[in-house]
Amino acid sequence: MTVTNSAQITDALKAEGERAYDLDRKHVFHSWSAQGGLDPFKVVKTEGSFVWDSDGKRYIDFSSQMVNTNIGHQHPKVVEAIQEQAGKIATIAPAHASAPRSEAARLIAERAPQGMDYVFFTNGGADANEHAIRMARLHTGKSKVLSAYRSYHGGTDLAMNVTGDPRRLPIDQASAGTVHFMPCYPYRSYFNAETEEEEVQRALEHLEQTIILEGPNTIAALILETVPGTAGIYVPPEGYMAGVRELTEKYGIIFIADEVMAGFGRTGTWFAVDLWDITPDLITFAKGVNSGYVPLGGVVINEAIYDTFRDRVYPGGLTYSGHPLATAAAVGAIEAMTNEQMLDNATRLGNDLIGPELRRMKEQHPAIGDVRGVGCFWAVELVSNRDTKEPLAPYGGSSTAMGEVIGKCKELGLLVFANFNRIHVVPPLNTADDVVREGLAVLDEALALADKHYQ
Ligand code: PLP
Repeated sequence: MTVTNSAQITDALKAEGERAYDLDRKHVFHSWSAQGGLDPFKVVKTEGSFVWDSDGKRYIDFSSQMVNTNIGHQHPKVVEAIQEQAGKIATIAPAHASAPRSEAARLIAERAPQGMDYVFFTNGGADANEHAIRMARLHTGKSKVLSAYRSYHGGTDLAMNVTGDPRRLPIDQASAGTVHFMPCYPYRSYFNAETEEEEVQRALEHLEQTIILEGPNTIAALILETVPGTAGIYVPPEGYMAGVRELTEKYGIIFIADEVMAGFGRTGTWFAVDLWDITPDLITFAKGVNSGYVPLGGVVINEAIYDTFRDRVYPGGLTYSGHPLATAAAVGAIEAMTNEQMLDNATRLGNDLIGPELRRMKEQHPAIGDVRGVGCFWAVELVSNRDTKEPLAPYGGSSTAMGEVIGKCKELGLLVFANFNRIHVVPPLNTADDVVREGLAVLDEALALADKHYQ
């Protein structure tokens, strides 16, 4: 893919960026923000693993935006697929069979674990989780939902209630039938575990006790991010997910794997459950399914749950379920990922470049407490002291130190996804090796600012 240099950011584009900024500040209400004093980034162009601002400055996109542009920006095949579909059928009611939705459903089902052959489409990840929980409740006739602390499942009401990090607290209305359990998180073990094996064993014992004490007959579903994303990209050690699957089967609980962020190649496999050969009952997805070129999410459904609704109406739907432009983009994106071997590339980048390089940085930067990840899905957890593991920003908050690191990255032309005390390294799966190296070198330089806060 050709890279546009700054000279090609025309005066017209610059003017467009400035006008967008002014109108934004006059009329746009932003998510997850206090509205006063916002200073949004003026993006005027995106291509591959890069974005440009209205000054013509180029940035490497190590964030994949909201960890969704798995195939990078403006992939020509996907742009073409959307344009072609818009010229044929731009919109159609979901009751009709339409080619892009049927093809997208086939491609997704073919990539999901065996026996998960049906796809319900939504507009994004939160509504996918809401529908998955509704399906589980109707299928089991039970209502309670178990979910992990340190998780994120979306910004709508029920999705926020099952979310297990502090972002839910301002709207937490007694969590509507949700019970949270402690996650398997070796770096900050809630179980005083000293090894990963201990952590897995104790986390599973804790989960089983939670199920028993809550009463298996009251629990419809357990929803779990396969690799928790915004909550910290902490890849569960071998044995944990298999153990969760075993417990949900033992107690008749529907296992909903939230793959909204981890799915569609991010971990180097189509779904992260493939890393451990696990088959859940429902998988929710969004983001990477079409790299977010048009909003799309959904639920992959197994035979037993499909059967529940064979002769019984499923009470729920969306005007845009399986929207032609969104599903045409999904067909284009899945085909591009397949034909261009992007999953293998994600694995290779993780194993050979990102992982080793971040671990090397850990040797040099005392402020790096932990490095973890898989494929193109990595987190660097920053601390002000390695012994106490005091986070460089409080859980659920921000800090000057984190602001300095992120600001330095931006100054040096790198966009990163940061949450609380973590920097996430989540580039598109097809980022060129030299671009990954360049981005990591910037991060390395910026992390010196974190070290200054080390005590
Ligand atoms: N689930 C997970 C694991 C996510 O990371 C997200 C978003 O980041 C969601 C659900 C919500 O998806 P959306 O923002 O598309 O509603």
